[in-house]
Amino acid sequence: MSDRQVRFTPWWWEAAAPEAGEPPPLPRSIDVAVIGSGYTGLSAALTLARAGRSVAVLEAQALGHGASTRNGGQVGSGNQKFTVRQLVELHGEDRARALVNEGTAMLRYIADLIEREQIACEFRRVGRFRGCMHPEHYESMARGMEDLKRFAAVEFFMVPRNEQDSEIGSDRYFGGSVLPNDAALHPGLYHKGLAERARGAGAVLLPFTPVAGMAREGGRMRVHTSRGAIEARDVVIATNGYTTNALPWVRRRVIPIGSAIIATEELSPERIARLMPRGRVYGNSARVFHYFRPSPDGRRMLWGGRVGRMAPQASSAAFEHLRRDMVAVFPDLSDIRVTHCWSGNIAYTHDTMPHIGSHDGIHHALGYCGTGVSRSTYFGHKVALKVLGDPAGRTAFDDLEFRTHPFHWLTPFAVPVVETWHRIRDAMGP
Ligand SMILES: Cc1cc2nc3c(=O)[nH]c(=O)nc-3n(C[C@H](O)[C@H](O)[C@H](O)COP(=O)(O)OP(=O)(O)OC[C@H]3O[C@@H](n4cnc5c(N)ncnc54)[C@H](O)[C@@H]3O)c2cc1C
Repeated sequence: MSDRQVRFTPWWWEAAAPEAGEPPPLPRSIDVAVIGSGYTGLSAALTLARAGRSVAVLEAQALGHGASTRNGGQVGSGNQKFTVRQLVELHGEDRARALVNEGTAMLRYIADLIEREQIACEFRRVGRFRGCMHPEHYESMARGMEDLKRFAAVEFFMVPRNEQDSEIGSDRYFGGSVLPNDAALHPGLYHKGLAERARGAGAVLLPFTPVAGMAREGGRMRVHTSRGAIEARDVVIATNGYTTNALPWVRRRVIPIGSAIIATEELSPERIARLMPRGRVYGNSARVFHYFRPSPDGRRMLWGGRVGRMAPQASSAAFEHLRRDMVAVFPDLSDIRVTHCWSGNIAYTHDTMPHIGSHDGIHHALGYCGTGVSRSTYFGHKVALKVLGDPAGRTAFDDLEFRTHPFHWLTPFAVPVVETWHRIRDAMGP
């Protein structure tokens, strides 16, 4: 890859770049201030504005600067981080059942929202194929899928290795599973559509208005921004992997981690069909996993994984490992050119669960641990219902303690070490 031929911005931005115009004037007083203009913030703003509340969305950068216009556009349920068995061990059978069912409700919610709001974002139920990295993963993956079906009626089917060429043009995997109801969308267009609907409902969207802090004054919050202060009855924090020390309580609870994607040059439809015959979204069973899909126009491979740390972010060298991983799965792509490289932040939490709730009367919804397209849309809606005092805002996630860790400040150093350890374990075996 030569730097001169590559754009270091998301391929999605070619169709829908984050809005970077002049921000409207700062309102002096508002019912609800939402901090962060990703899917969480916009989904919250839409629900609040439709319920008649005055809402301002305060965004530090251009609208949609964060993960919401940078992600892979793979839309699944909220159940991708834990197996049902792990959830039962951690939370007991009843709670696990409630969490898993709410996870599946997240996928339904985003699909219904996109349809109801007529958001043109290439949303398609293409299904997800997850490949097994080791032969032993096949049985455990099948058991996990059976449990999901038993707990939440999730449809799936297994694909043994000797039949997987109907799913994927690679022999890197030892079979896999398909979730036929999972979906794909264009993240930039989805973000743009949500922003238009929120604005249309009356929300004021304020780019380039970073929040520096807030203080309670009487019964209201005074939110300090670089453009002055704004008074609000309620505040929602929706900053996920971009949370800074301006929001210290939340910052001590989320672990920002980078995720990166490359887009190839246009490939022939025949070549794409050979590699991804069903045009699904794809992942694998590794601890440090890669994810990929065809672009919505069916012409490119979009390949994602961990960020490179040994080279400056705006250099091809920082993305070379993704190209290497892609060619290891699809040797046929060794001759192709990469045209776009980009990265963004996801937010992990100490219990690997997303969190919704309030602290000191300030609401938050975040910590999606990398699978946030449906989770953030759903949590944004739910946190808005909580602000409205609507009992429908209750979720199975409400009572999870949002823990920090005495050594939280060490996480930026620990993340690369843990990642390397996971990669070694992935390479060693199941
Ligand atoms: C490369 C990549 C690939 C991914 N792929 C997938 C995928 O395929 N499927 C999936 O489900 N999930 C995926 N994710 C995760 C998903 O994109 C996120 O979980 C989701 O977009 C989070 O939305 P959000 O609104 O909570 O946060 P974000 O979209 O990150 O928005 C947070 C915003 O808060 C703003 N902000 C922060 N601090 C302040 C402040 N003090 N004042 C004002 N504004 C502030 C930031 O500027 C940012 O714009 C991916 C993420 C990345 C980075």
